[in-house]
Amino acid sequence: METILVLLHTEADGSLGRNAWEACQAARAAAEASSGGGRLVAGVVGAGARAAAERLGGLGAQRLLAVEGEAYAVSRYATDAAAAEALARAAQATLVLAPGTSRWSRALPGVAQRLNAKVDTHVTALSCDGGALTISRWYYRQRIDVTLARQARPWVLLLDGGAFPAWAPTDGQAQVESVAPSPPAVRTRVEGIESPAADRQTIRPDAPLLFVAGAGWTKKQRDGQPHVEEAASLILDFVTRAQCSLGSSKSLVDLSGEGQAVLPFLTHLHQVGQTGSTPRHPKGLATCCHGEEPHVVGWRFIADRRAVNLDANCGWARGKADVLYVADAFAVMRHLNALLDG
Ligand SMILES: Cc1cc2nc3c(=O)[nH]c(=O)nc-3n(C[C@H](O)[C@H](O)[C@H](O)COP(=O)(O)OP(=O)(O)OC[C@H]3O[C@@H](n4cnc5c(N)ncnc54)[C@H](O)[C@@H]3O)c2cc1C
Repeated sequence: METILVLLHTEADGSLGRNAWEACQAARAAAEASSGGGRLVAGVVGAGARAAAERLGGLGAQRLLAVEGEAYAVSRYATDAAAAEALARAAQATLVLAPGTSRWSRALPGVAQRLNAKVDTHVTALSCDGGALTISRWYYRQRIDVTLARQARPWVLLLDGGAFPAWAPTDGQAQVESVAPSPPAVRTRVEGIESPAADRQTIRPDAPLLFVAGAGWTKKQRDGQPHVEEAASLILDFVTRAQCSLGSSKSLVDLSGEGQAVLPFLTHLHQVGQTGSTPRHPKGLATCCHGEEPHVVGWRFIADRRAVNLDANCGWARGKADVLYVADAFAVMRHLNALLDG
């Protein structure tokens, strides 16, 4: 029988993030489906870990564990790894399911080594075939979808965000046990977190729409001149008004390295595609972007795809988009922003 530890960390304010609730749902489903019924244990680390664990009363876990204390409140490899290892050992976990957040993605591969466990990252689905767990994940930049199983235990799985439904907490009795890790040697002092102001934060994984800007925004237009400043304000106005997530083609973010006029708010973190990201949004709108395969492969999880391009023969017209508007993106976005204003 599997003992499944759903391993969570709190956010800075003590809450559990969406990825944590998704991991809870995945763990519940895995426990129900595994042969003989899996034994579910939940473990929480971070600021307010005990209070967060108390919210898991309705999860159906046989034990609720928490690692508390100032040292474990912040994200730091040494303390996160010590806490996760202590929870896995206390739970006697054969499976550890954790959200693939940056905090756990950094710490858990090392924890797997300490536990003499195997680890797989970017897991997008779990299923139980005849009671034996199999996982799905993508390889080669989302081109090959692989289903695999392992005999080895413990097995640590980092789950991709957005791939599982979120569990909505229900009432239930919650008796939380404290777990004390062996204090690790700590050489890193966390001084604080620097993050961009809310209005500069343009990557929004939860937004319903992905808006992609391509290199065409910086190219010479009909009057023979580039209009980069107007492009910047049209794009930012739309992203702010629509509260969508901003993506870019590689060509556009690379231009800065070539000393050309660029849109200052775009970085390589915005790049969508084969060597960029593969975001998940219900809708996508590409503007001034040619729709070439190395870019469009990053649109694999965008359900409804639309593009605006002057060129009726661009890649989007070749089966890559649901709708292509053959139009000047400057005119389209000016009009769209005016509609959003009205
Ligand atoms: C190994 C490899 C990995 C790669 N990885 C990536 C990746 O991760 N992501 C990525 O994006 N690319 C990637 N590429 C590059 C990719 O092949 C393309 O070169 C790139 O996506 C092109 O970017 P673009 O469409 O913005 O620019 P361009 O090809 O320059 O297209 C600009 C478009 O803007 C249009 N346009 C211009 N003005 C307007 C206007 N006023 N209104 C409407 N349309 C207008 C033009 O018609 C044109 O179609 C990779 C390539 C390789 C070889």
